[in-house]
Amino acid sequence: MQPSFSIGGQTIPAGSRKTIHLPLPFFYTHSPTTMPVHVVRGKQAGPCLLVTSALHGDEINGIEIIRRLHGNKSINRLKGTLILIPVVNVFGFVAQSRYLPDRRDLNRSFPGSPKGSMAARLANLVLTEILPLCTHVIDLHTGAVARENLPQIRAKLNGDPAMKALAKAFRAPVILDAALREGTFRAAAHGRGIPTLVYEAGEALRFDEVSIRAGVAGILNVMVHLDMVRRAIRHKEHTPLIAKSTQWIRAPQSGVARSLVALGARVSAGDVLAYISDPFGEHEAAATSTAAGIVIGRSKVPLVHEGEAIFHIAKFEQPSEAAVSIETFQDAFDPETDTVESTEPPLI
Ligand SMILES: [Zn+2]
Repeated sequence: MQPSFSIGGQTIPAGSRKTIHLPLPFFYTHSPTTMPVHVVRGKQAGPCLLVTSALHGDEINGIEIIRRLHGNKSINRLKGTLILIPVVNVFGFVAQSRYLPDRRDLNRSFPGSPKGSMAARLANLVLTEILPLCTHVIDLHTGAVARENLPQIRAKLNGDPAMKALAKAFRAPVILDAALREGTFRAAAHGRGIPTLVYEAGEALRFDEVSIRAGVAGILNVMVHLDMVRRAIRHKEHTPLIAKSTQWIRAPQSGVARSLVALGARVSAGDVLAYISDPFGEHEAAATSTAAGIVIGRSKVPLVHEGEAIFHIAKFEQPSEAAVSIETFQDAFDPETDTVESTEPPLI
């Protein structure tokens, strides 16, 4: 049996589900506001997985991932506990902004404090009220506005086989062994000994069906790995690969950019990724790749200043293997080619 469990002063018995509204500072309209937290408790004891999204208020793919997960039948027979917080940065979400109203970044404000800025208070609330109950965390993010990311897991692997297995269990096509950045939720949770994965996929203020489907499947895959649920669906298998390192390709001059490569494309060193010119095309420069690898991030605005990061390239031991794996992944999660039947109509 599971031990007793409470959030915000409310007890959630084993074998039940409950939505709790944690009180937050009011809006300046003086309207009360809350952070909605959904808890699913299995009858049997097991790990406690926390899934968070919209720490950056404009990164909304994770909200749809959590909505689908919340309705997924496989979590009805759960071992352990699942905590879902779709909108952590409620204030940024309402303003469709990455930041808090005072321009602070919640994901640089951990551990926070109960008497600090609004960001510090939000961070502190998650850290004191929720995190001590958890054994594992998955934090859902996207690229910035008009920057798209290929679905990828970021985690501090640190040569730790258990962490490596957890990161691979998600089955995102690409894994980045990412150093911890101070002030992030990931660093705060990691510092408290809680293994944490960040899933980065798609772009801000947009829904991306492939990123969403892969996110839902990824969280369920991790739950299978942690023995919280039984395997329900099986997508075409690809191999999640750990990148050796990554590199940004920057605009060699300011101008109007014509991009030639898509997200997920395989590139070689010296390949032209984009042409950048003045509006007449008289002064043209090529942005060439300085590395062989896979495009895992890309700017979508064709107007650039010199030095701006326009492509993010991940390098692999075996770039050809990575390319095949990414193709298999795209096939498996693209609604046009997906062989697994979905109850969700694809978002276009
Ligand atoms: Zn983010």
